[in-house]
Amino acid sequence: VEQTYIMLKPDAIQRQLMGEIISRIERKGYQIVQAKLMDLDSEIIANHYAHLLEQNFYPKLEAYMLSGPVFAMIVEGEEAIQGMRTLMGPTNVFEAMPGTIRGDFATDLTYNTIHGSDSPEAAEIEIKRFFG
Ligand code: ATP
Ligand code: MG
Repeated sequence: VEQTYIMLKPDAIQRQLMGEIISRIERKGYQIVQAKLMDLDSEIIANHYAHLLEQNFYPKLEAYMLSGPVFAMIVEGEEAIQGMRTLMGPTNVFEAMPGTIRGDFATDLTYNTIHGSDSPEAAEIEIKRFFG
């Protein structure tokens, strides 16, 4: 059994998609073992997106992540890290298939609705970062 860090981004909360997305995660068979609504600050965003600080879209990404609360979750299940990435669809929403969360709900490269850890190392760090 594996744990992954999943975060519904501010557009998901603003568009009232939380219930829909959580229900997809539950229907798949994963357990949500911890969850909370939280407001991020610039420091935690910079840590979380340290690999993107030099990108020209970083200011837009930061403003997006500051635009409202996120819903942070620890999701548990067999191969949950890869499984959740599959359920979410790829980062590039234009490549995300219908049936995936990003494929069904996102139309913008930045405003892509959901985050999920991309490796066991990232999952461990991100769970600590957001849940202490
Ligand atoms: P996340 O870490 O949020 O789950 P990801 O791992 O699929 O996404 P990353 O490469 O880590 O993708 O990018 C982090 C976030 O930065 C993306 O989810 C998206 O919101 C934004 N982003 C990534 N690439 C671009 C881009 N080319 N243009 C605009 N925004 C982008
Ligand atoms: Mg990422």
